[in-house]
Amino acid sequence: MTLGTYNRHQAERKKQAALAAAFPQGIRCQKCLEFGHWSYECKGKRKILVRPSRTRIMHKNLKAKEEGQCR
Ligand SMILES: [Zn+2]
Repeated sequence: MTLGTYNRHQAERKKQAALAAAFPQGIRCQKCLEFGHWSYECKGKRKILVRPSRTRIMHKNLKAKEEGQCR
């Protein structure tokens, strides 16, 4: 472990402590919507439904159309 990563780790801990103080009820996970941890620390299952964006649907439809024309 280099000093750089150690310092970064310390800074991260400080940030976490500051955030914990800023949110009295606790930090909220955006993944499983539970309090007390961040989404990147989440070990739970994703609760938010990921909806495909308009452009994604458009690209999908275009691709399907292209593939349909090729055959
Ligand atoms: Zn979570």
